[in-house]
Amino acid sequence: MIQDIAPHKLDNAFRKAEPQAGNYVFTFRGTKPLFIMGGDTVKLPTFEDLPGGFEKNKDKAVYLFSIDEEPVFLILARDFAGDIASDMKFDFLEKVYNIKEGWVPIAAFTANHLNHWYEEHHFCGCCGSVTVFSDTERAKVCPECGNIQYPRISPVIMAAITDGERLLCTRYTGRSYKGIALIAGFVEIGETLEEAMQREVMEEVGLNIKEIKYYGSQPWGLSDSIIAGFFAYLDGSDKFRLDETELEDAAWLTREELPPLVDNVSITAAMIEDFRLGKF
Ligand SMILES: [Zn+2]
Repeated sequence: MIQDIAPHKLDNAFRKAEPQAGNYVFTFRGTKPLFIMGGDTVKLPTFEDLPGGFEKNKDKAVYLFSIDEEPVFLILARDFAGDIASDMKFDFLEKVYNIKEGWVPIAAFTANHLNHWYEEHHFCGCCGSVTVFSDTERAKVCPECGNIQYPRISPVIMAAITDGERLLCTRYTGRSYKGIALIAGFVEIGETLEEAMQREVMEEVGLNIKEIKYYGSQPWGLSDSIIAGFFAYLDGSDKFRLDETELEDAAWLTREELPPLVDNVSITAAMIEDFRLGKF
């Protein structure tokens, strides 16, 4: 999965890191990071690649996390100035899959998550004053009222519903991803993950489930979320009805009918593959 980057490690502990000219730096336009484009290859920029170079950018850098011992930084869009070089481009986040270093996708997704949160918390949610960066933790602090805002992570459940040798597979409506999917949805306030499973499955396909078993989890910075995956058995009728605002199609597929693993990035693909191989 995207977070499996051994022997590398993403160290998310907050620290006061001084940027160096050769450190990688993310900057975004919306959810599009700045890349150096080179034919089939894509690279992440360092401070030296940015307009104005290291000197013009080092004081604007926000520490994100480290990959192994190397700190990685962010420059917020409001602090980014100058024209980018002709071989640089703000492009879709998914371009990170064209970068050969295996740690880049989880780093870029997590950078996107933090960038989105920092952009949304420029002002205090209580009194509207401009917030400042905390010196001691990953937080934005209001100098007027003392309100402290921490990064927000939205929990999502992912449901693999099985009926003997069959798995309920879906296709999403209106998303760029057109492959096989499972049922997924954000957890609502006041419910458990298991209740979110039952509600989402009922809402999206009208089925009852039982014996909900935890599978694993995955940080997914594309949607500011943490995805918790579960297997569950069908309980009762297998006749589904689609919520067509969410799903374009659904089908019960046997293990033999499931295609082999198409990506090794998502928890969805990992769950489908483990079912195909008979592990669940
Ligand atoms: Zn305030």
